[in-house]
Amino acid sequence: MTIVDTHVHLDDDQFDLDRDAVVDRARAAGVEFMMAIGTGGGPPDLETAIRLAARYPSMFATIGIHPHDAAKATPESLAQVSVLAEHSKVLAIGEIGLDYHYDFSPRDVQHDIFVHQLAIAAAADKPIVIHTREAWDDTLSLLREHWHGAGIMHCFTGDEHHARQALDLGFHLSFGGVLTFPKADAVRQAARIAPADRILLETDCPYLAPVPHRGKRNEPAFIVETARRLSEVRATTLDAIATVTTENFHRLFHL
Ligand SMILES: [Zn+2]
Ligand SMILES: [Zn+2]
Repeated sequence: MTIVDTHVHLDDDQFDLDRDAVVDRARAAGVEFMMAIGTGGGPPDLETAIRLAARYPSMFATIGIHPHDAAKATPESLAQVSVLAEHSKVLAIGEIGLDYHYDFSPRDVQHDIFVHQLAIAAAADKPIVIHTREAWDDTLSLLREHWHGAGIMHCFTGDEHHARQALDLGFHLSFGGVLTFPKADAVRQAARIAPADRILLETDCPYLAPVPHRGKRNEPAFIVETARRLSEVRATTLDAIATVTTENFHRLFHL
């Protein structure tokens, strides 16, 4: 069995003491590839994921400015996103989008930096990784207006209605630990109705560990718990879920 973890923050300092062991455990659990998200602590350092991808053969990278850090973006950092988008291990621009839960950056600035990075992704011909929190309507309307490519709705936590809108726009839905939480029936319903060729798996580690690890530091090896829950939700086998989500990852990124 092989699984792809499409969203890891292994640059986080919670992994400083045992990063190699975490990667070894991921491999042992069947994780074939990981996509390291390159937003880090925000500009000016946009190369956190590229450094991980250089160190670990099983790791790819993204590049981008998180909505939390939109206020830190400068013309120079946006130019740097364009340049780093061409790096051989960079698969996508992300995570980009809107976060109205924390509002760490003013909303108009979040919009501006999001739209700017959509243009960069289009120019680089790369898919995007979307982070959206309490901002569905604005995220979808900006995507409808400014985006005509592929992408991932990361850590999908919407309901069936949101899922259908994202699927209609051509997006893949990536399910993480939230899928295993007792109260997440709406997310499980979205996971049930999504076409098999549009589902992906992720941990978003170190955040959002799945049951039975909930509340602990998350790591890629725990993705098996989310995959198992997804197989139950979709009335299929763990092997079948691992296979189809791995195939989807390879097809989305032309690997
Ligand atoms: Zn996110
Ligand atoms: Zn993330």
